[in-house]
Parts: sequence; C-alpha cells; structure tokens
Amino acid sequence: MKLIILGAPGSGKGSQAPHLNREYGLVHLATGDILRKNIKEETPLGLEAKEFIDNGKLVPDEIVIKLVEQRISEKECEKGVFFDGFPRTLSQAEQLDKIVKIDKVIYLEVDFSILLKRITGRRSCVCGRTEHIKRLKDNKCECGKTYYQRDDDTEEMVKPRLETFLSQTAPLIDYYKKQGKLITINGDGEVGDIFEVIKEVLN
Ligand code: AMP
Repeated sequence: MKLIILGAPGSGKGSQAPHLNREYGLVHLATGDILRKNIKEETPLGLEAKEFIDNGKLVPDEIVIKLVEQRISEKECEKGVFFDGFPRTLSQAEQLDKIVKIDKVIYLEVDFSILLKRITGRRSCVCGRTEHIKRLKDNKCECGKTYYQRDDDTEEMVKPRLETFLSQTAPLIDYYKKQGKLITINGDGEVGDIFEVIKEVLN
C-alpha cells in the first residue's frame, strides 16, 4: 500500500506513524525528518535546505523529489509506504505520480487555532516521536533521548508555515479529490481514536 497523509503542520500526520507501521507494516517516509537529519549532519543538501526551513518556506521541489526517489528505492519500502509532509506542491504530486501508484490520500482536517496550540507545544525527538508539552513528565523520550523544541515550532514561525500550507499545499486536496483518492478525516482528537477512523476507511 502507498498512502499519503495530507495535512497542515501539526495536524497529526507523523503521530500516526507507529500505528500505520504496526497495523500495515508501512514505512514512514517523512521528508521533514530526512531534511532535518541532513541539516544535523551538515551535508551540502542540509545546508541548502536549512535556509528555506528557517524561513518557513518550502525546500525546492528538485531537492525533495531526489530525496524521495532515493528513499523509495530502498528494499524496506517495498512493504509499503506512507508519505508524511510530501507532496507539498502540485509539481511534487505530479512527479510522485510518475514514480509510484498512490492508493489513497487521507486528509487530516484541523482548525488553525488548534494547530497553533499543537505546534508551539510540540516537543520532538531525533527518533521521530513527538509529544505535547502538557503530556511530558520529564524531557525524556521512551527511546532514551531528550525531547527538544524544533526551531520552526515557535509562535513566530507558525504563521508563515500555515500560509505556505494554504498557498502551496492546500491545492493538493482538489488534485487528489479529482483522482478519486481523497478521504477527509477530522483530525481534532486523540491519536488512537483518529487511527481507528483511518483503519475503517482503509479496510
Ligand atoms: P515538516 O517536518 O514536515 O513540518 O517539515 C519541516 C520543513 O521542512 C517544512 O516547513 C519545509 O521547509 C521543509 N519540507 C519538508 N517536506 C517538504 C516538502 N515535501 N517540500 C518542500 N519542503 C519540505
């Protein structure tokens, strides 16, 4: 199965990763995670991407598509993949259609006022897990590493990121609706409850 979870920043796309992996064996392909890894390792690609990310802008399509092509060709991904944070532009979606056949697209719809609270309270771990600050007892992730706040998860960065979503990514809702692949789900709720709805629509 090749699945896309579409949604604004903070809509809960990545939080579904452990569930989708356990239930369907889907590999989590999150372009944001891959880009952050490159930035941390100070690769040439990471250095190029950092400037865009720090300004709430999208990294150029050519860079992101190359990363996705690389990852998707790995053996592990044969089992099935779910894309998180990709595609983010119409051009990325068109390119993706040339590489793989997407089965379904789940759009997690969440009010922007809720997204603001989620993003600014979000703490992340290098292992990919995230947790809201109100649920953290200490700063330790279950993998043993320490949670941190992403540089772009601040109040001042939320606005440009949500604007970027509206102008560049939201048109994908129509794109996949026209392909008959779009399923819209209310993303305001507990992660587990939302996963139950996802399971219903996938089965
Ligand atoms: P995310 O972790 O998905 O919120 O992504 C963090 C940042 O990485 C975004 O704000 C973009 O600057 C960049 N990014 C991630 N995925 C993409 C993509 N598919 N296309 C362009 N930029 C991306």
